[in-house]
Amino acid sequence: MDLMSMTFDELNSACLDMGEKKFRAKQIYEWFHLKLVSDYDEMSNLSKALRDKLKTEYPIPGVKEVKRYVSKIDGTMKFLFELNDGHIIESVMMRYKHGNSVCISSQVGCRMGCRFCASTLDGLIRNLTPSEMLLQVYEIQKAIGERVSNIVVMGSGEPFDNFDNLIRFIRLVTDENGLNISQRNITVSTCGIVEKIREFADLNLQVTLAISIHAPIDSYRQSLMPIANKYTVKEIMDACHYYLEKNNRRITFEYSLVKGANDSEELAIKLSELLKGMLCHVNLIPVNPIKERDYEQSEATHIERFKNTLEKNHINVTIRREMGRDIAAACGQLRRDYKQGGTS
Ligand code: SAH
Repeated sequence: MDLMSMTFDELNSACLDMGEKKFRAKQIYEWFHLKLVSDYDEMSNLSKALRDKLKTEYPIPGVKEVKRYVSKIDGTMKFLFELNDGHIIESVMMRYKHGNSVCISSQVGCRMGCRFCASTLDGLIRNLTPSEMLLQVYEIQKAIGERVSNIVVMGSGEPFDNFDNLIRFIRLVTDENGLNISQRNITVSTCGIVEKIREFADLNLQVTLAISIHAPIDSYRQSLMPIANKYTVKEIMDACHYYLEKNNRRITFEYSLVKGANDSEELAIKLSELLKGMLCHVNLIPVNPIKERDYEQSEATHIERFKNTLEKNHINVTIRREMGRDIAAACGQLRRDYKQGGTS
């Protein structure tokens, strides 16, 4: 494992194993997670000999900015980063009244196969390491020169398909000796991997769980998300109730509205029944069409109707505000275009 992905105790053992003094781990940990330095040569209180040794024994994963798009409307920024092995990932920074929020990727590609999503078109390439997740946040904080206060794990990839690295990332980014981001300011979004929702609940983290539900009935869900063949809506809801019992934190349900596929009045009613009385919030996302598929966004009147039906049934609901409309691209689309040499 690379040093930046290690907890302080693990880093300490690694340093002691290298014959280093006890204070060494603290110095390195601070360079990584407080000073956000990701180049050993900048670690001025380490000897040249040690820096050279670290470079060969523990190379630091690279997350290098190769492209940045900045919205002239609301300051939203999309970043393309290149990893050491040449793969490209994307991350987004959004400015809100409550602070700067970064949306990170958890994998290169994705194997979940959701029909409307661009991130999954070429399948999963590999998991991101905890450090590669951290570096997306660190690099963005450095690039904007302002503190990042919120993180959403909603970029490319299925975070619960990279569970251990995700948990490590959360522990490191919330560490009071590091960036010290509040757990309450982190949201993890999953397509609904039931065992992992339960495992996550057992960790008792104060992190917000978001579930990509997209349809309240199995057959509709299956037509949009292959994972729905593995887990039923009922199993997901049971796991969500388990999470609520353990954590009592409001769950977000994401519902991407696809014209003619999941935007009917009937499904709005079914969804209301499913969520009745639950501590939750529905986030309606007008689907962002991708050129590789022929899904279309629901009509505005249907989106409104869907929302009104939920409201009438006392379900908390918002329509996701579109950030950075002028640099808009569906999840994973920028990276795809870049790889295919199509970015302008
Ligand atoms: N794999 C995780 C997190 C990444 S996707 C998950 O499934 O939740 C974040 C959210 O964006 C998910 O709800 C996903 O279904 C949705 N999404 C992906 N592509 C989209 C698109 N083209 N239009 C609208 N929503 C999309």
